[in-house]
Amino acid sequence: MTTNHNGRPVLAAADVPEADTGRRPVDRARARSAARELLLALGADVDSKGLLETPRRVADAYAELLTPRPFRATTFPNDDGYDELIIARSIPFHSLCMHHLLPFHGFAHVGYLPGERILGLSKLGRVVEYFSRDLQIQERLTTQVADWLEDELQPKGVAVVLEAEHMCMSLRGVQKLGAKTVTSAMRGILREDPRTRDEFLSLTARASHEQ
Ligand SMILES: [Zn+2]
Repeated sequence: MTTNHNGRPVLAAADVPEADTGRRPVDRARARSAARELLLALGADVDSKGLLETPRRVADAYAELLTPRPFRATTFPNDDGYDELIIARSIPFHSLCMHHLLPFHGFAHVGYLPGERILGLSKLGRVVEYFSRDLQIQERLTTQVADWLEDELQPKGVAVVLEAEHMCMSLRGVQKLGAKTVTSAMRGILREDPRTRDEFLSLTARASHEQ
């Protein structure tokens, strides 16, 4: 058995099974004809030169926005007993609002207080991206990221804060350009202990002001 520098046994890295959104893949042919139908309904001349390729482009664009890149997170045993917050802040993300099929985009701040296992820092961004590529509402996206981390790492606490601008709010309806919607999901110690929560919020708040 191999041991680390503290003489403790090194447990093997473990592959977390690929996250599953339970969705069917995008049917591009169907999306293409639906996009053409939508253009017709909007009064567009679908045979005009500029619009000839538009149905295909729309189908491809939505397919890309809604298809998560496969991702397999590898977790590692927390051999050194690291017990401070691990935070990835200002992770840029974009998603699609399920009510208007318009994008919302912004930054995610994700942190956890590790228990037995830790996850590579870059993977925190991949988790956000994975659940972003879906027809979403911001609240659901926030809790999905928190749930995933809680399930896969069983950490002592999790915090996820998302701040995003919704095109359906900026460009239509109330039309508040640049207004940010902020959502959060706190679990475990980050929910129960105000000091730890404040530490997370102060470490990520600075980032928000910099945007
Ligand atoms: Zn919307």
